[in-house]
Amino acid sequence: MALLCIGSRGPEVVTVQRELNRQLFPRPNLDEDGIFGPLTAAAVRAFQRQAGIDIDGIVGPQTRAALGIAEPGNAFTHRVRLHFRSISLTDVPFESILSATQLVYAQYGIKIEFGSGMSLMLSPAEAAQLEQLDGQCTWSITGGEFANLQQRGGSVPANEIVVFFVNRFSQAINGCGGHMTNRPACIVAKAGTKFCTAHEVCHVLLTSAFSPVHITDTTNLMHPVDIQRTATPKLTPAQVTQIKASPMCVSI
Ligand SMILES: [Zn+2]
Repeated sequence: MALLCIGSRGPEVVTVQRELNRQLFPRPNLDEDGIFGPLTAAAVRAFQRQAGIDIDGIVGPQTRAALGIAEPGNAFTHRVRLHFRSISLTDVPFESILSATQLVYAQYGIKIEFGSGMSLMLSPAEAAQLEQLDGQCTWSITGGEFANLQQRGGSVPANEIVVFFVNRFSQAINGCGGHMTNRPACIVAKAGTKFCTAHEVCHVLLTSAFSPVHITDTTNLMHPVDIQRTATPKLTPAQVTQIKASPMCVSI
């Protein structure tokens, strides 16, 4: 895969410039001329800072994924839209979580789209109750504090996923992909790694029907423990096939 950097020219550079003009704030107002010069490089660095990814002014896989630009020869074929609802700021910056999630799925032509984000306005009593999420993470959430949480945050389209960020669970877990019927959702604790959200979203996409639920290979996204990673975790072909068959993974 070609990296784009100062001196690069062509239609791919136009795409990068167009997305920077759309997604970087304040808007850089780059000429969309297909010539990667110092102004484009500066805008790339500013975008990388905004996205919480490595700042080098070069457009590689991580920056492409964060910008939502497909790799040449590996165009996005699907998209998954996520809505974020939080009662806690995450330890890892939110931008890094979104970028990491995009990077995992971009490897397989799946674009992760930011649908919406908001913090849940809890009363002091509600905040005290949900400070620690008590109960068991199960595939099917029917009651208790998990359901209490997942009923919040407004309606979203039935084929889009709500990601809830909470302080902690009473169980020794960083996330839970279980949810209520007709409310595709998962929950991530503030201590989760930047790939924890991608893992829990994967549970939602794979559903309880998919086996194995977890994979001991530490390079796989579905390793059972939320370990610190340096490389972007992978999916098996079977996992990718099942994900792309999910109604929440829409062909584009
Ligand atoms: Zn898991």
